[in-house]
Amino acid sequence: MQTTYDVIVIGGSYAGMAAALQIARGRRQVVVIDAGVRRNRFAEFSHGVLGQDGKSPTAIAEQAKAQLLDYPNLTWREGVADSAEKSGDLFTVTSGNETLIGKRLILATGVTDHLPAIPGLQDRWGKTVFHCPYCHGYELNQGPLGVLATSEASLHQALLIPDWGPTTLFTNNCFTPDDAQLQQLAARNVKIEPEIVREIAGEQAAIVKLDNGRLVELAGLFVASLTQPSNRIAQDLGCEIAESPVGFYVKTDEFKQTSIPGVFACGDLGRPMGSVTFAIGDGALAGFATHRSLIIDGLPVIAGK
Ligand SMILES: Cc1cc2nc3c(=O)[nH]c(=O)nc-3n(C[C@H](O)[C@H](O)[C@H](O)COP(=O)(O)OP(=O)(O)OC[C@H]3O[C@@H](n4cnc5c(N)ncnc54)[C@H](O)[C@@H]3O)c2cc1C
Repeated sequence: MQTTYDVIVIGGSYAGMAAALQIARGRRQVVVIDAGVRRNRFAEFSHGVLGQDGKSPTAIAEQAKAQLLDYPNLTWREGVADSAEKSGDLFTVTSGNETLIGKRLILATGVTDHLPAIPGLQDRWGKTVFHCPYCHGYELNQGPLGVLATSEASLHQALLIPDWGPTTLFTNNCFTPDDAQLQQLAARNVKIEPEIVREIAGEQAAIVKLDNGRLVELAGLFVASLTQPSNRIAQDLGCEIAESPVGFYVKTDEFKQTSIPGVFACGDLGRPMGSVTFAIGDGALAGFATHRSLIIDGLPVIAGK
């Protein structure tokens, strides 16, 4: 007979596992489907995660997974969830030849980063090209550093980065700072480079090749990638999508429930900007709220009561 799970979690990385842990500890039947393609797979080390600082992203995930698999009421499926549908009070998820049925659905499938089409940039993502100074800035030993503009939102990155080292903003025809912005940048000693960026080279350093042939050598280059949900499952279910200056994410309430009752979203998929720590926090909250929703009608709830 087909099992009806209490909760189906799609995406078994930091957010999905943190959610599943709460459900498993609530002694409910939970199944996690995971394709194993985490956003930070390009980076050798992960930083800024309390108790795990400097560990490899894979080691953090594998340790968590090993702990989850100790719960007999948790089922793990390696694979891709192809689609999810709501019919009545139940959700049906298809993954290859398998169909899973659950009372609640947690989406933790992360986002995909879209980088400017500059030769050499994608190859250096997570190595000498980064999205987040809190994750990778400290190790760059105070620069020199760069910010490659992708939109006006890069102004904020350019204002932050000087705390990690002397900074050049490559505007790359993406935006032209106005007088007020120029003053803000000057107050932070940010150098502005208006020349077009043609290529990123180098192995230990990020070497920025400019249109006029000049080379600028940097310890690291920061780029605000444009992020998008990594698949269409949330959109196909009808979940409301929100837009931030750097991309799209699934809109949720304060307990991580989406606009579709019974569907929760957590981690990078359900917030405008992400980190492993935020994903774990969101996942735990989504797991807690999902479990509560199986018993008590209507949220909000009072945490721990
Ligand atoms: C290069 C780089 C370096 C980073 N370094 C750091 C760092 O040092 N510190 C830090 O805190 N943050 C870092 N981050 C950010 C961090 O990677 C994300 O915030 C974090 O991975 C989000 O976790 P998540 O669980 O929401 O999503 P993800 O970790 O991206 O996981 C999503 C999971 O869902 C699965 N999935 C997707 N679609 C499906 C499907 N249809 N069916 C089944 N499974 C599916 C994927 O395979 C994946 O396993 C970095 C990001 C990048 C790009």
